[in-house]
Formats: sequence, structure tokens, C-alpha cells
Amino acid sequence: MRQNLVVDATRISADIEALAAITEPDRPYTRRAFTPLFLDGRAYLEARFKSAGLETRIDASGNLIGRRPGKVPGLGVLMLGSHSDTVPEGGRFDGVAGVVAALEVARSLGDRGIALAHDLEIVDFLAEEVSIFGVSCIGSRGMAGLRPPEWLERRAGDLTLEEGLTLVGGEPHTSGARSDIRAFLELHIEQGPVLETARLDIGVVTAIAGITRIEIIVQGRADHAGTTPMTARQDALVAAAKLVLDIQRLGLELAATPGHFAATVGEFEIEPNAANVVPSRVRMLLDIRAEQREDLDHFQRQLNSAVDAVGRETGVMIAAPRVISDNPATPMDRHVIEALETGCQTTGATYRRMASGAGHDAAFMARICPAGMVFIPCAGGRSHTPVEWAETADIALGSAVLLEAVLTLDDQLASPTREIDDGTHTD
Ligand SMILES: [Zn+2]
Repeated sequence: MRQNLVVDATRISADIEALAAITEPDRPYTRRAFTPLFLDGRAYLEARFKSAGLETRIDASGNLIGRRPGKVPGLGVLMLGSHSDTVPEGGRFDGVAGVVAALEVARSLGDRGIALAHDLEIVDFLAEEVSIFGVSCIGSRGMAGLRPPEWLERRAGDLTLEEGLTLVGGEPHTSGARSDIRAFLELHIEQGPVLETARLDIGVVTAIAGITRIEIIVQGRADHAGTTPMTARQDALVAAAKLVLDIQRLGLELAATPGHFAATVGEFEIEPNAANVVPSRVRMLLDIRAEQREDLDHFQRQLNSAVDAVGRETGVMIAAPRVISDNPATPMDRHVIEALETGCQTTGATYRRMASGAGHDAAFMARICPAGMVFIPCAGGRSHTPVEWAETADIALGSAVLLEAVLTLDDQLASPTREIDDGTHTD
């Protein structure tokens, strides 16, 4: 049974609607980082942070932060937040739900006159989505001290990222790396259908899946499509198509075992791409999301065998699959996971543990402090589209879970006897 929530759903929905109205009028819901509309959204949030009694600032990495000082100086910071930027024609809830939920936690603490031992900070990270500069999570990478210095020279038209950071109020040449954060919590819409299908309120995130991109080049031979017998071809597309089906089969097998796994051929180019020519060459790019390294290793071994088998069967040359980028999975902190589960129990929320198949700011925060996430359901699992939808009641319940977790962590981390991961684990 759910208790009466100590958060205010009306305030949550008012903030989400107000931010949704700050969009390119012909392309809802678009509020791209570094644009004037993004700054309008930030101005709205800053005013709301201030009216919640928070001290506001923009940090060196361009993140908007609202601060509520704690009772015990020097204990460090509990941080909550997400991002207010959107993809082009994105949704109203991706990122925004997490910023508003974090703000609601601060407001609820204020309403009830609760003083935490730790300082509380609410954050709107800069440019979580792939930005006009072609890179993502600019703000959280900065806060973790992981933003590559050469990124400052990246350009979007006339604007460099260095200038973009200055534009939003950051300081591009000052390190924004933090060492005073004791825990980070983020609420986000699931962006998938698992919670809705299972009729659960909350997903407690165990890990953010790793992302590995693998390129495969299939080299066949161009020939006349009318005159070359079917039995005498080296058709690169036929070989590539067989491989795509092998990749799907391997993906389905691994998805059926414990731990998140997904494999997608998302880029596919065919040459010469002409109706009367047998295809000579295919380039494909695989996106692999794995929670467990063993699954990725297994997939790569099986993929290599499939490549050999298809090459033998079809007579085309298939180069060994080449790993283009490989970012390992990021586990969430076990104490934070437990605090969030306690929050679910206290509020009466139904929940399950699950991995995130998408990347999030929490993955970078996990590099500098114990971090955790909760997912809330979204309609049909749809996201990065204007039809994206989350119920206010679900966001409110998620906010209440965050609030309970903050109270638990504030107690635990203020007590010197309790041993807590220091977040310096490597991955
Ligand atoms: Zn997001």
C-alpha cells in the first residue's frame, strides 16, 4: 500500500508543462543544448530553483546547480539531477522528468523543514544528448574530470565548444572536476517497455550497459546483374544479409540469458547501389549493449565464427570484425541500489532491478562517487519522439522514492561507522 506521497504532483506537472512550452514551435519538443531556447529553459529552471530556496550557480562545466546547505559543514554533497536538453523532435520527459523530480525532492524537504546533514545539490547537466558538437554528456564528463581537452576545438558552424561553454556561463579552461560528492541519484524515464509491460512502478538500475561498436566490411565483386549466372557471383549484399541474420540470432540467444544484451546493425552501406550491378561491397556498423563482459566476449567469438562460415559459404572476402569503440558497462553502487530499494518499500512502489541499455549522465558520475538511478515507466516504451509520455503520478512516486533514498543515504553517510564504497572503483 502506498502512503500519501510527501511530494506534490501538481508542482511536478506544472514544471514539465512549462518546460514543454519552451520549444521550437514547429518542431516540438526541441530544446537543443547551446541554443537560445535552451537558455530560456535554463532561466525557467533557475527561477524555480531560486523560489525553492536553492542557491544557484553555473559550474565551470556549464551545469546549472541549485544548492541547499546541510547542517554539518564538510560532510560533502548529495547530488540529484538529470538534463534539460533534448534531441531534435524529442519528448517532454527524457531528462526533464529527472531534473523536476530532483527539484521536487528539494521542495519537499523545504516544506517539511527537514535539514539534511549533507549539502544537497540539484543539477541540470549540460548537453547529455549528442549535441550540435557531435558529442554527448558534456556537463557530466566535465564534472567527472573526463571531458577530453581537445573537445574545446570541436565546431558547430561558426561556434566552437569553447565558445559554447562560455555562452552557457561555464569556464572552458577551468577544471570542473568534483571530489566532494558523496552520492549521486538520477531519475529517468525507462525509454523502453519493460516496466509498463510488467506493470511495475520503478526500475532500480543495476548497471548502465557498455557500448561496443564493431565494423564489418564485406568485399564481393561487381558484375553485370543481367548476364552473370546466379551460381557465379560474389554478391557482397547476400553475404552481409546472412551475417545480419546471424547477428540477430546471437543477440536473441544472449538476450534470453541473465544480464542485459542487445545487438543491432544500425548502419549499412552498399556499393555501388545500382539496380543492374551485383553488389561489390558492404560496410556495416554494429552497436552492442552488454551489461556483462562475458556476454560481449561470447558474442565476439561467435561473430568471428559466423564471419568465417559465411565467407566460406558465399566465396566473398569478409575482413575480421574491427572494434571501433568499446566503453565498458558501469555498475551502480550497491549501497545506493539498496537505499533506492528501501525507498520503494517505504513508499509502497513495486519495483524490479534492471540494467539500462541507454547511456546516462549517471555513468560519468559513477566514476567519481557512488551513483544510482531509478527508471519510471513511459507509454509504450517510446522515447526520443514527440509522443513520449510519462504519467505525473509515476514521476511523483519516483520522486518520493528518491526523497526516501536521500534520507537513508544522508543518515548512513553521516555516520562514521558505516562503510561505503568510495566510488574510485575502475571499470
Ligand atoms: Zn535522457
